[in-house]
Amino acid sequence: VEVFESLIDFSDFKLLDNGLIPVVVQDYRTNEVLMVAYMNEDSYKMTIDTGKMTYYSRSRKKLWLKGETSGHFQYVKSLMIDCDNDTILAKVRQIGAACHTGNRSCFFKELAKKDYVSTNPLTVLMDDYDIIMSRKNNPKEGSYTNYLFDKGIDKILKKCGEEAVEIIIAAKNPDAEELKYEIADFLYHMMVLMAECGLDWNDITKELVNRR
Ligand code: AMP
Ligand code: ZN
Ligand code: ZN
Ligand code: ZN
Repeated sequence: VEVFESLIDFSDFKLLDNGLIPVVVQDYRTNEVLMVAYMNEDSYKMTIDTGKMTYYSRSRKKLWLKGETSGHFQYVKSLMIDCDNDTILAKVRQIGAACHTGNRSCFFKELAKKDYVSTNPLTVLMDDYDIIMSRKNNPKEGSYTNYLFDKGIDKILKKCGEEAVEIIIAAKNPDAEELKYEIADFLYHMMVLMAECGLDWNDITKELVNRR
């Protein structure tokens, strides 16, 4: 029985000269790029039929069920083909590590980079939460976050309330500049509250998704 239904025929894929098509594999939850491998027609059919990522191993020259020896299977959540049909994007539930080195992702060797600070909302909120959590577990001299934790829950709640009120006041301005500051203040204090009460961002986003 087919687990998935292929919406495009393999014969419509634009293959490399060796008859293979590259597959970019992402964690379905975080979109982290886990690995890149290749499929031929048989491995594509196996993947569709079993719901487990199956590739063609160029070194071993045979079908390769990812996880067959390591147990690190990849359960297919979705498959997409790119604009010109020459690359597959797979979102998977990765068991263990995607990389045979034991790394979750194959991409851990830096080649070149420009220093930049990500302003991706997910990254910033999760990183800030991690910093707040690390202050809680590992207090730092002069830290405002530690000041809040030391004062305790009532102080944290008071700040959350104040920042909420400041949002309301700032929102009355025609320009949104001050509102931006107050929302940032609010989110920070909310994260301190979350950390104090043992909630993390996953608890919050799971609840949001449940309400859809
Ligand atoms: P596995 O499919 O995880 O049981 O691994 C079987 C073999 O495939 C390993 O011994 C490696 O030679 C190779 N292999 C596994 N994962 C990768 C990967 N992400 N990239 C390249 N080769 C891999
Ligand atoms: Zn392409
Ligand atoms: Zn690897
Ligand atoms: Zn404020």
